[in-house]
Amino acid sequence: MLAMTYRGPKRIRAVQKPMPEIKHPEDAIVRVTRSCICGSDLHLYNGNVPDTRVGATFGHEFTGIVEEIGSEVTNVKVGDHVLVPFNIACGRCVFCKQGLFGNCHEANPQATAAGGFIGYGHLTGGYNGGQAEYARVPYANVGPTVIPPGMDPEDAVLLTDVTPTGYQAAEMGGIQPGDTVVVFGAGPVGIMAARCSWLFGAGRVIIIDKEDYRLEFARNYAKCEAYNFQEMADPVVFIKKITDWLGADVCIDAVGAEAAGNVMQTITGRKLLLQAGSSTALHWAINAVRKGGIVSVVGVYGPTDNLVPMGSVLNKGITIRANQTAVKRHLPRLIEHVQNGVLNPKGLITHRIPLEEVADGYRMFSAKLDNCIKTVLIPPA
Ligand code: NAD
Ligand code: ZN
Repeated sequence: MLAMTYRGPKRIRAVQKPMPEIKHPEDAIVRVTRSCICGSDLHLYNGNVPDTRVGATFGHEFTGIVEEIGSEVTNVKVGDHVLVPFNIACGRCVFCKQGLFGNCHEANPQATAAGGFIGYGHLTGGYNGGQAEYARVPYANVGPTVIPPGMDPEDAVLLTDVTPTGYQAAEMGGIQPGDTVVVFGAGPVGIMAARCSWLFGAGRVIIIDKEDYRLEFARNYAKCEAYNFQEMADPVVFIKKITDWLGADVCIDAVGAEAAGNVMQTITGRKLLLQAGSSTALHWAINAVRKGGIVSVVGVYGPTDNLVPMGSVLNKGITIRANQTAVKRHLPRLIEHVQNGVLNPKGLITHRIPLEEVADGYRMFSAKLDNCIKTVLIPPA
């Protein structure tokens, strides 16, 4: 089968690989119908995620038709068209039982890492992903969700990560009616977080980025204010100024670790920490939020990143909430929002390209070329 394969930092290609096989009675094999490239894939692509091994296939946002099921799979059947949440979750560990599907213990017992993710290298369990013609989906009774009749499959594929992550970013912000919310990062996740902030009653939503085309997209899509930080002397002062010098009620970090940080030797598998990560966005969020405010972090950081200016957090009495998104927990509500027209996830899609061209897709998304927001990869028919 054709599959995207990692060869080393910024080197990926589409190659022929063996078909995935059922390895456990709770596995399913899915024939992928569409997959997306995510900002989280860029951390892998740039070589910033520890233990990303040559030969790995990425792709944690995909839909597909169930091709084969293990003997203990009862929740989906062969022929079902499913959306596959990026979390691999067992559904029965202490964390899954609390709805923390992004922190499943069985799918990935490593203490410093998140739960299991499909297509995200060995740090999150070593599961190959869906930027391929076929994928093996573990714990298939928990994650894969049948796409409701009538739902556009392009909406469905964005329910695997971006939509729930934007929603959870706003939810973790604890937004109160009338609150001013500032979102750092106008990628797909930040734009969706801005859009969802209105659902929680925000009175004012502001997004900050440096890419004018993304800011323009956000203004239209999320009906928010949008500003370019490169045109400001200091984004923190800018935010203070427009909030009576109090600061925003809620700041959302939808950027994550900057590419230069936390570089690990990935080619040989030997782990070598060269440099700790850095984040301007997180510092801006902490400095721009008001005293007693909430900073909600969905931008991804490496397990060794050590970035929180604790003095500011303590002295301002800030609450920081952060997590990998528990996709499954949000699906019932978000499916309803899509069906009722409250949310329009597929409106984020700007590019649809054949899986064979996956390397071009990553280059375009990484370099922010051709006004790219969200790219969908289509496997060969
Ligand atoms: P993206 O790379 O498309 O978007 C990031 C945006 O941030 C870019 O537009 C970039 O120009 C902008 N940016 C860079 N530095 C900035 C700064 N200092 N201030 C403001 N904006 C800045 O990525 P995406 O797909 O939108 O994902 C965003 C983040 O969310 C990534 O870190 C991704 O890994 C993470 N993510 C987390 C989860 C989760 O479950 N927590 C799920 C999906 C994605
Ligand atoms: Zn993603």
